[in-house]
Amino acid sequence: VITGPDDSFFWDGVARGELLLQHCNDCDALRHPPGPMCPRCGSLEWGTRAASGRGVLHSWVIPRHRTPPGFDAPYIVALIELEEGARLVSNLIGVDVDATAIRNDMAVEVCFVDGQEGQRLHAFRPVAS
Ligand SMILES: [Zn+2]
Repeated sequence: VITGPDDSFFWDGVARGELLLQHCNDCDALRHPPGPMCPRCGSLEWGTRAASGRGVLHSWVIPRHRTPPGFDAPYIVALIELEEGARLVSNLIGVDVDATAIRNDMAVEVCFVDGQEGQRLHAFRPVAS
C-alpha cells in the first residue's frame, strides 16, 4: 500500500487494527477516502475518529479477469457503507463466493488480514446473526 500525507493515518490505523475516518474540525463532516480539504465547507483543518467497524454491504463485484498479485482468486470487491455514513472500498471475506450467499444491505464488520507483502489490510465479513 502506497500512502501519502493525507492517508498515512488511515493505513497506520489499519496496521494497529483500527479503522480511522477523517473528520472536519470545522463542520464535523466525516469523509473517506482521505483528502486535504473538506468537500462540504472547504476547511483544511481535520482530525481522525475511530469507526465502529460496523456497516452494510452497499455494492459488490467478483472480478473474473486475471487475478492481481497478492490476491487469491476469486475474491470479492465490496463497497461498504459504514454506520457512520462513509463508504469504503474493501474486500468481503468469510462468505461463499457463490453469489446467492451475498446480498446488498447484509450486515458486515471490519476485520484485519495480513497481505502477502507483510502489510495489514482491512476486510469485511458478515456479522454472525
Ligand atoms: Zn467541513
